[in-house]
Amino acid sequence: MAKIFDVGIIGAGIAGVFASLRIADKYSDNRVLLIDLGKGVAKRRRQLEAWFGCFPTGDGKIYQNDYKKVSEIVDGRTVKGAKNYFNSWLYQINDNKIIKDLGPSSATLKTLEENEWDVQLNDYVQWKPEDIHGLSKIIVNKIESVGNITFSFDNEVFSFIKEKRHFAITTEEGEFLCKKIIMCVGRSGWRWATKVYKDFGITLNDDLANFGVRVELPCQYMKEFNKSHCTLTKGDITVGPLSWNGTVIPEDHADLAISAFRSNEERWKSDKVSFNLIGSKYFKDDGCNQTDRLAKLAFLLSNDRIGKERVKSFLRGNSQLSLLPEYSWLNEAIEDLTNIMPNILTKGYFHMPAIIPMASTINLTPKLESDVDGLFIAGESANIRGIGASAMSGIIAADGIFKGK
Ligand SMILES: Cc1cc2nc3c(=O)[nH]c(=O)nc-3n(C[C@H](O)[C@H](O)[C@H](O)COP(=O)(O)OP(=O)(O)OC[C@H]3O[C@@H](n4cnc5c(N)ncnc54)[C@H](O)[C@@H]3O)c2cc1C
Repeated sequence: MAKIFDVGIIGAGIAGVFASLRIADKYSDNRVLLIDLGKGVAKRRRQLEAWFGCFPTGDGKIYQNDYKKVSEIVDGRTVKGAKNYFNSWLYQINDNKIIKDLGPSSATLKTLEENEWDVQLNDYVQWKPEDIHGLSKIIVNKIESVGNITFSFDNEVFSFIKEKRHFAITTEEGEFLCKKIIMCVGRSGWRWATKVYKDFGITLNDDLANFGVRVELPCQYMKEFNKSHCTLTKGDITVGPLSWNGTVIPEDHADLAISAFRSNEERWKSDKVSFNLIGSKYFKDDGCNQTDRLAKLAFLLSNDRIGKERVKSFLRGNSQLSLLPEYSWLNEAIEDLTNIMPNILTKGYFHMPAIIPMASTINLTPKLESDVDGLFIAGESANIRGIGASAMSGIIAADGIFKGK
């Protein structure tokens, strides 16, 4: 008979690693299987797969607002505990100095207010690749020294079903039985997670497609924003966070690439500022599917690569994207932005596709357990986005399974 694990963690990204660490550290009597489709620790086939997920290949900004995001689902005391635990590991490598977002100039803030934009400032701690590798190493050492976590890399999970006493997980390497599951398949698994929720009948909302473009401008034309990393929102449009002095790069998914941003290595440094311009558009029960479809179409239009065009070409109707009527809202959004970023039309470029690759939403308890008994969800699969937020949610899900048992 197959060996039964106490917990199966699907996805060894940021949430999965911190869930494993927490269990090794605090609940070491339990046997855990950690599965990831990527190659093993310190090896990588694609940008977003394997141990630590997007952390080593992302921009390394740990936004302080992440803690608030988790508080929307989990009670403040629990979030504080998870934050302290997360920070206790970070402090072993990095002084965790918070870079304060001083915000746009007061004149710009006034213009933003007059134009009815909501402004959120984003303080952050900057992590560099060498620090991320250092953190990864001490976590691996800790987990291996305890010895209760079995790694199964290069192993894609195809599906799982709930049986009487356990879940049966079907993978490339065969079947595994686990009493509980923490599912945290993040950025590369957002479409699969949406399918899992649909198959279990637990989808709460899949009505929004989040898609748009990534705009880039020379910093000199955005001086009034004062290097603020703010996020602006108005109705169903989100602009930001503004990201300074880096490069737009392809973010490599299983079967498409989207526009992302890096600045935490010398080779990415630039004199540009860039930001996502995303619309959350209504498609009844079909949001994730439409996000995926529109990203793929935009990708095809730019010959299977990240496209770059002048912002003004879109307003003139001669951009490749102008062929897709679903993007027509961009006309009004760009015109509106000229009130607060006057140079966007003459100096701005946009990159496509840009999407928010998040699974449909589901109901979660404050322990991050779904409506399926024993199925816990963390990280982006729980619609909790960002390095700090994903890590904390992994810790909270692990506690959710064992605390008070
Ligand atoms: C280029 C880039 C820059 C970023 N910069 C920042 C930043 O500066 N600050 C910030 O806060 N956030 C940033 N992010 C976002 C942040 O990295 C994510 O929010 C975070 O990684 C989510 O963590 P997660 O654990 O949910 O998922 P991930 O880290 O995406 O991990 C998911 C894991 O699941 C595995 N997986 C997927 N499907 C399966 C399957 N079927 N079977 C087995 N395994 C599977 C994957 O291989 C992966 O290892 C960035 C992302 C990118 C791509």
